[in-house]
Amino acid sequence: MAAKNTVPPTPLLSEKHNGIPARLFDKAQQAKSAIFNITTKSPSNKSKVAIPQGISENAFHKAIEELSAELGKEHVELVTKLVDGWYMENPNTHDGMHVSQEDDFVASAIVYPGTTEEVQAIVRWANKHRIPISPISIGRNYGYGGAAPRVRGSVVIDLGRRMNRILDINPDDCTCLVEPGVTYFALYEEIQARGLKNLWVDVPDIGGGSVLGNAMDRGVGYTPYGDHWMMHSGMEVVLPTGEVIRTGMGALPGNNSWQLFPYGFGPTADGIFSQSNMGIVTKMGFGLMPNPGGYESYLYTFPKEEDLSQLIEVIRPLRIAMILENVAQLRHISMQVALEGKPRSAYYNGKGRVPDKIIHDAAKSHAQGDCAWLYYGMTYGPQDIRKYKLDIIHKEFMKIPGAQRIDPTSLPADDYFWVRDRVASGVPDLEELRWVNWHPNGGHVAFSPVSPVRGQDATALFDIARKRCDEFDLDIFPTFVVGLREMHLIVEIVFNRDDPVMRDKARACLRGMIDDAAGKGYGEYRTHLAFMDQIAGTYNWNDGALMKFNEKIKDCLDPNGILAPGKSGIWPARYRGRGWEMSSKDESSEGQGVIPSAGSTRL
Ligand code: ADP
Repeated sequence: MAAKNTVPPTPLLSEKHNGIPARLFDKAQQAKSAIFNITTKSPSNKSKVAIPQGISENAFHKAIEELSAELGKEHVELVTKLVDGWYMENPNTHDGMHVSQEDDFVASAIVYPGTTEEVQAIVRWANKHRIPISPISIGRNYGYGGAAPRVRGSVVIDLGRRMNRILDINPDDCTCLVEPGVTYFALYEEIQARGLKNLWVDVPDIGGGSVLGNAMDRGVGYTPYGDHWMMHSGMEVVLPTGEVIRTGMGALPGNNSWQLFPYGFGPTADGIFSQSNMGIVTKMGFGLMPNPGGYESYLYTFPKEEDLSQLIEVIRPLRIAMILENVAQLRHISMQVALEGKPRSAYYNGKGRVPDKIIHDAAKSHAQGDCAWLYYGMTYGPQDIRKYKLDIIHKEFMKIPGAQRIDPTSLPADDYFWVRDRVASGVPDLEELRWVNWHPNGGHVAFSPVSPVRGQDATALFDIARKRCDEFDLDIFPTFVVGLREMHLIVEIVFNRDDPVMRDKARACLRGMIDDAAGKGYGEYRTHLAFMDQIAGTYNWNDGALMKFNEKIKDCLDPNGILAPGKSGIWPARYRGRGWEMSSKDESSEGQGVIPSAGSTRL
């Protein structure tokens, strides 16, 4: 492969916990070359470590020496250089796809614990010195901030490097128990190596993320087990004051059903730890899907953008009845064209959105031909069961004038259809990165509002997105994703992270969409660090009662406000009222200091 020689080799999974499986090495090299060939941005040398507010430089360095002495020098690193890397060699120092200034969300140091006890030691150290800490598992949360902390100068706890064991795979119960550093690639390869053909792993679009980390941020995958948070059972959590708890059945010593029954007895605590800053998860269990005994992918195309409303009405009852068995994805043709991996300049150099005609002309050369929307689905089970469902789906989809079922046998082996086929059958892949090359130094953030699965909601959200993308001269890459009873519209905004004007436009566009959507009753399901305050502010029923509740829990569990301050818009008492919130009026990620004396000192 020519590409293999052009860039240094991607680390293999056999060499590194977050490496690429050997079977995907060539693909990784091609992806890496494609990205690096259009990268013009150089790594930035930081002469100074970003010291967090609330501690002097001197005291900070002394505290770091103390931590190094406790954990070993080799497990604590100061951050003096920011290298964006790429997906498979992601930085743990900052956001490799920063939509704000590169220097906004940066870590001061990275620490690598090897055990739960060491995580406890780090938490106690952070309380003693009042230094903010921010946990990551693998840090590939691309589009949402990656590995970056919300508060500049936080110490990032990179759990994945040394805590990456698969603690259990149970083929009878179809469960697993993992540490933070286990990636989808690693879990899948281990299941194959053990010959456990009866087990599937549900995987997201790209397989390099942490199984635990993805679930913590409520990420999704594409088998019927696609809701990763819903599929977890049991967590071990280090609290912000250093104690450890096990949730669900894990609280009962000697139990053997931790991964079987998520609730245990009493209040289910798990929810407060997801998309939050209430604890650091060191172990997590999951249900694994049993091999359904057969599967079959299908693709339908629909000719007109205006078909959207009718299509969504067709999808709703089929999805709720689980005739459509996995997360239903309706992708816009612009996304399909961008997946070719060519930069926008290969199609168009004018201002504004790439004209529809150019996108449609480009689509004509694809195997599926020109269209407005593509529906990728999969049906599971033995052949007769699949046929029963496929017949219903065909009858319903063909009600849309001009709908076409694409015969998979007509599609070449490298068609994107087969990527969806692998992902929806639990085989982790790497392809989805390609559309980020739309711009050199490509980065992305997403508008991701939740709505009912109704034609009128789909149209309203699509209109909001189109209007704002036009206003800010940005191309639009929408996909409608139907979980079960609700739908997310995911609009990816792709930008050149080395172009401050385009970054400003990307942020302004997303902020505009968030406000427009909230005005019509739609809220986001997940977001990038830069938008967490704004989105938290839209969930403000009854005078912000939910945030007041979150703040009460935060202050109680984390009296010194050391754990991931600001995550999901939840600011601890030390930071509140000091202008730390980001908004369109104030894009600065930092506020005016912290209260030094608030909270308990007795830890
Ligand atoms: P991935 O690599 O799967 O995308 P990350 O490691 O980037 O996952 O984690 C995504 C987000 O989830 C992090 O930014 C952090 O907020 C949260 N998170 C990840 N791991 C943990 C953990 N072990 N405990 C608590 N929160 C976590």
